[in-house]
Amino acid sequence: MHKVLIANRGEIAVRIARACNDAGLESVAVYADVDIDALHVRTADKAFGLDGNSPAATYLNIEKLLDAAKRSSADAVHPGYGFLSENADFAQVVLDAGLTWIGPLPETIRELGNKVTARELAVRAGVPLVAGSDGPVRTPAEAKAFAEQHGLPIAVKAAFGGGGRGLKVVRDIDTVEESFDSAVREAEAAFGRGECFVEKYLDRPRHVEAQILADNFGRVVVIGTRDCTLQRRNQKLVEEAPAPFLTPAQEESIHDAARSICREAGYRGAGTVEFLVSEAGDIAFLEVNTRLQVEHPVTEETYGVDLVLQQLRIAQGQPLDIEDGLRPLKHSIEFRINAEDVGRGFLPTPGAVASLQVPTGPGVRFDSGVTSASDVPPQFDSLIAKLIVTGSDRQQALRRARRALTELVIEGVPTVLPFHRAVVRAPQFCDSSSFNVHTRWIETEFQEDIQPDPAYVPKPAVNQVLRRLPLEIDGRRHVVGLPEQLLALLSSGSGTTESAPEQNSPARADRTVQSPMFGKVVKWLVEEGDEVTEGQPLLVLESMKMESQVPAPRSGTVEELTVAAGDDVQTGTQLATLV
Ligand code: ADP
Ligand code: ADP
Ligand code: MG
Repeated sequence: MHKVLIANRGEIAVRIARACNDAGLESVAVYADVDIDALHVRTADKAFGLDGNSPAATYLNIEKLLDAAKRSSADAVHPGYGFLSENADFAQVVLDAGLTWIGPLPETIRELGNKVTARELAVRAGVPLVAGSDGPVRTPAEAKAFAEQHGLPIAVKAAFGGGGRGLKVVRDIDTVEESFDSAVREAEAAFGRGECFVEKYLDRPRHVEAQILADNFGRVVVIGTRDCTLQRRNQKLVEEAPAPFLTPAQEESIHDAARSICREAGYRGAGTVEFLVSEAGDIAFLEVNTRLQVEHPVTEETYGVDLVLQQLRIAQGQPLDIEDGLRPLKHSIEFRINAEDVGRGFLPTPGAVASLQVPTGPGVRFDSGVTSASDVPPQFDSLIAKLIVTGSDRQQALRRARRALTELVIEGVPTVLPFHRAVVRAPQFCDSSSFNVHTRWIETEFQEDIQPDPAYVPKPAVNQVLRRLPLEIDGRRHVVGLPEQLLALLSSGSGTTESAPEQNSPARADRTVQSPMFGKVVKWLVEEGDEVTEGQPLLVLESMKMESQVPAPRSGTVEELTVAAGDDVQTGTQLATLV
């Protein structure tokens, strides 16, 4: 292995490029047009364009990624997390092309990526899990029968769900069938596969996971635990290692269960086994993520292991040189820095970073995908950076986190920093003697009133598109990609590059409902002819993988819906008319 193609973007692509550098390997970045000058492109040794701007045309495009690997003569592929990292077909195609796949075998990804077959494997490995259906549930009646037998609440889960999506909680027996049907429909739309299963929904659990590494020689080692209980809508926001306040017995059963599952699966590479810990303290298997995890740095900081370097070593066929049962040397907390406005219900806020002041000092690590002059494009995830703070124990880590979160300044796009600054002062989270938060604590108990960011003005997204033009140099044909904005500037000879937003006449503007953000229409909540009151949710939009509702700007009658489910909209696009 000499040259690694990184099939990803953002902070994780930067992280992998750095590990390649440390390992003496060359790194190759790929980029969507909009990312041509992104930090991950500048950090890697070389970069190849993917010609496009949508996720499907770029970081999810297997053909283009393989072509970039060939053109760059890369001999290995690291998928990072998200995108194609848990796609068994991609892993297989990479192997078939004679390249090294830095991850588990395709058949392992296939078995564990399906939450139903993963549960079956956990049963074979003798690992405790939440009561659930045997295999996928075929009919709404079957889901109802499960609820009648096991009691409510239940969770309807998509077998191929991920990233905190594909889970529906049902608390009322009369809505089980209806919820099941809509869960199947949503899973089909989001993951391309509708299969769902049901399990008991635990109230007020913690999320605890174990990091594992396995080599090609049958060795499986567990590198401690992480707590990821601080979540919003089942998406992690703050993670820490080691998971605090576990009894030695709980810790041991988590380690044993993680090891047994990976042995049973014939696992190799880095992976994470996730569990819920119930209020009563019982451990229940959740799923296995067959990739590097967003929160891997807290494990690195506390156990002194470079997990990406270990992935590279394992892929090169080297045996693990790490002892099992490592004890944590420190305590580390990660804060995900998402471009979202907390005061507007965590609304995704793409835009341009105007300035970035990174904290330093003892215990501080900042894994970023952006610099002080980066764009945060609307079509990708809102995670732009991670602040990782480490101390000799949890209390010292918290004190250092308060300091580092104060030093960190990001201007231009709102971020979740106000939330983090409040949470490190919340008594329930900071208690030194017991763990007082649960996975829905942010939604149900966290009290802090955080105001919308007054400085943020959503602007129409500037979609950077490259025009590729042939050019001859010394008799040889080359292709140059030029930003369309630059070409427009050259051809018009004028000094403005931004096209003015469409002007509406005042009468017309009054009747239209405009989109407050870039996104895709998920569904309408009203029909033409409906009477609506000011503030009533009209439709659901998805942006940066988050769903948000658009409220009626005033009361009136819906005259016409001018966009449909599946349509892409920009900030300012007319959605409907209201009379
Ligand atoms: P982790 O489990 O590593 O903490 P997440 O669950 O937040 O991380 O997922 C990591 C990234 O991958 C996020 O950007 C998430 O949105 C994305 N992701 C994970 N699984 C899927 C999936 N099945 N479909 C779409 N996106 C996914
Ligand atoms: P994903 O693949 O999206 O990460 P998971 O199965 O790991 O899906 O679940 C994500 C989160 O959803 C968990 O961390 C937890 O907060 C919540 N969750 C999942 N299953 C249950 C359950 N049975 N009871 C309570 N919470 C659950
Ligand atoms: Mg999970």
